Amino acid sequence: MQFSAAYDVFLEILHRINQRLRQALKRDTVNWRMLNTCPACFYKLDDEPALDFEWLVSIDGNNSLKRWDSSIYGTTARSDSRTARSDYWIHADAVDKFENEVKSRQTDLRNDDDWEDEPTDPDHPGAFTCVNRWRNAGPDSRKKMFAVFQESGIFIASCRHRFVLLACDMIRSGELAKYLIAIIDKLLTVYGKNGGCAYDIGCAFSKTLANSTLGPRAHDLGFRMMVGAFHGHAHNRRCQLDWHPMYISGTGHTEGEGCEHIFSASNELARSTRHANRFHRHQAIEEHFAFWDADKYAALSNYLWTHYREALKSVRLLTAELETIKAELRLSDNDFPGFFDQERIYLDGLKQPAPRDRLSIRYVEVLDELAERRAEWDLARESGNNALNGVHIGSLEQMHDALKQARIRVNSSYAKLQHAEGLVAHCETLLSVDERWLIGGDEYKRFKEEATLGKYRTALDELEHLVVMRLFELSKLSLSGTGYKLRQQISKALQRRSDTIRNAINRYNIQAASLIPPRQTIAWKDIAEYSFLGEFDLLRDSRTDIQDKDWARPAHREATTKYFKLCRACEEIIRLNIEIRRLRTAIHDETIDTSAVIDELLVANPLLAAELKRQWRSRAAINAVHTYRLDQIERLFGFSGISGIGTRLANPAFSRPVNTNGASSAQAENPDSSASEFHDIEALDREEHEVVTEDMADFLYSIND
Ligand SMILES: [Zn+2]
Ligand SMILES: [Zn+2]
Repeated sequence: MQFSAAYDVFLEILHRINQRLRQALKRDTVNWRMLNTCPACFYKLDDEPALDFEWLVSIDGNNSLKRWDSSIYGTTARSDSRTARSDYWIHADAVDKFENEVKSRQTDLRNDDDWEDEPTDPDHPGAFTCVNRWRNAGPDSRKKMFAVFQESGIFIASCRHRFVLLACDMIRSGELAKYLIAIIDKLLTVYGKNGGCAYDIGCAFSKTLANSTLGPRAHDLGFRMMVGAFHGHAHNRRCQLDWHPMYISGTGHTEGEGCEHIFSASNELARSTRHANRFHRHQAIEEHFAFWDADKYAALSNYLWTHYREALKSVRLLTAELETIKAELRLSDNDFPGFFDQERIYLDGLKQPAPRDRLSIRYVEVLDELAERRAEWDLARESGNNALNGVHIGSLEQMHDALKQARIRVNSSYAKLQHAEGLVAHCETLLSVDERWLIGGDEYKRFKEEATLGKYRTALDELEHLVVMRLFELSKLSLSGTGYKLRQQISKALQRRSDTIRNAINRYNIQAASLIPPRQTIAWKDIAEYSFLGEFDLLRDSRTDIQDKDWARPAHREATTKYFKLCRACEEIIRLNIEIRRLRTAIHDETIDTSAVIDELLVANPLLAAELKRQWRSRAAINAVHTYRLDQIERLFGFSGISGIGTRLANPAFSRPVNTNGASSAQAENPDSSASEFHDIEALDREEHEVVTEDMADFLYSIND
C-alpha cells in the first residue's frame, strides 16, 4: 500500500517534469505524440514520391488486460478521481458516439460477438464467412467476454514498425464494432488521407464500417481495410484475392500483425491489472506502452536495415526465378494480373446446387441409409431365428441369454429402420415424391454422384478446419513473447493436432479416390505449407475441370504468386527509401531543436535544462546508432534512395489527392526488373525474424517424418 502510494507520487513527479519539458520543446500541441512517435511513418518530407498508402496501421483487440468489477466481491470500489495521464487512450465518450452503429441482425445465440457476418449468398459459396472461422478457430480474444470484468480488455492500433498509436478500453459490452470505429475515426482525423488498416477480419469489418456513420468519411479519405499477412491465409480464397496484403498494391512487406506482438508482451501485465482500480490499470498499461515505444524507437534503424536487405534479396531472387519461368512457360508480366482476374471470375461464378437439388441429394443419402438399415434388420431377424443353433439344449440359462441377445439386436435394428423410414418419408413430403425412387434408377443416379461429392466435401471441410486451427497455434508459437512453458504446451497440442490431421488426410484421400474421375490426393507436406489453405476452395469444386484452365495450372499459379511477391518487394524498397530519409531528417531536426531549447533553458530554468540534458544524452546515443545504421544502408549495393536529409512537410494535411482505387481491390504494376543485378548480400542477421523461422523449422522438423 505504502509502496503503491510512493510509486504513484514518483510517477506524478515524472509526469509534471515531462509536461514542463514538452511545453519548452513545443511538443504540447494537439496529437503531437501520434504525429511524431514513429518518424519513419509520420515525419513526412516535402519532396517525397507519392505512396499508394500514406499510412499503414493494424488494429486488434485482446482481453487479457481486463479488470474485475469490484461489486463482484460485494464491496464498493474506493473512488479514485484521477484519470489516465497519457493520450494513448480514446475516451469512452468518443467510443459511445458510435454505439448502435451496427445494424440489428437476426439474433444468433451462438454469436458471442456482434460482427455483421458477410452475407451468406447461397449462390456464392466463395463468400462464405471468415467470421465463423475466426469464432471457431480464432484466439480466445474472439470468444465471449465475461460480465464479471468491468473493463474486459483493450483494442489498440499500431504502425508497421509496431509503435503503439492508440488504445481503447472495452467496457463490459458485447458490441465490439464501436471500439474499432472509434479508433479508425481518430486515425482518420490525425493521419488523413489514403490510409490502410489490417485487422483479423478486416474483410467482414469493412462492411460494418461502410454501414456506419463513419462510412462516407472513410470512403472519401480513401481508407482501405485489409487482413494480416499471416492470418490472411486462414481466410477463404476468394476473400484473400481482395483482402490479403500480398494482392494489394502499395502494401510492400507490411505484415499487419504488429498488434499481436504488442499483446504478447503486454500479457505479462495481466496479473497486475486484474484487481487494480481503473486509474492504476491505466497507469500500468501506459507505462508499459511508453517503454515499448521507446524500445521500438531504439530498434527503428535496425528494422529499416533488415527490411532493406530482405527486400533487396527478394527482388534479386524473384526476378531471376521469374525470368526463367517466363521464358519456359512463354509468359509475360501482363499474364499474371490476367490469371489473377480469371481466378476471381471463376470463384465468383461458383454456384452451390439449388435448394431443391440439395434436398434431392439428401433424399438419395437417406434412401441409401434406409436400404442399409433394412439389410441390418433382415440380418438381425435371420440370426434371431437361428439364435438357438449351437446352444446346448439342456442349458436353460444359455438359451435364455441367446434369446435375449437376439431380441435386443432385432429391437434396436428395428428402431433404426423406423427412424430411416421416417427420414425418407419426410424428404418425400418435402419433395412431393409420389413414388419412391428406385436405388439405381435414373433419378437416383442423377443425384447419387452429387451425394458422393458431398461426402468428399465434408472430408475436405474437416481437413481445412484442422489446418486452420494449426495455423493459429503456429502463429502463437512464433510470437516472441510466448514463454517456454506455453511454447511446450502448444507444441504438445500441435503434436496431437498433427495426428488428427493425418487421420483427416487419410479420410480425405479415400473420398478423393472414390470420385470419378478421382481427385488429387493430399500429402502431409502440402499441409505443412500453410499457403496451401488457399487451394481448398479450388478443391471444393469438383464439377468443372479447372485443370484445363490456364490460370489454374500449378506452374502458372506458383509463378503468379512469385510475381505478386516481387511487386510487393519492389514497393517495400520504395517505402523504405522514404522512411530512411525521414528518420535521418527527424534526427537532424531534433538535434538542432533540442540544443536550442537547452541553451534557452540554461538561462530561464537551469534545473529543467539539466533534466533535458540528462534525457537528451540517452536519446542522442540512440540517434548516433541510428545514424551509423542509416549510413550503412546507404552504402548497400542496390540502395536506390536519396542520401542525406530533407525538409519536413510544414502542413501534415497532405497535398496529394485521395486514392480513387481505395475500396477496390488489388492491382499490380509492373515490377521494376532493373533491380535484378544485386550483389550477394551476406547472411541476414534479422534477430526476431530468424528466431521465429528457427522455431517454426524446429517445430516442423519435430513433427515431420
Ligand atoms: Zn511506423
Ligand atoms: Zn475474409
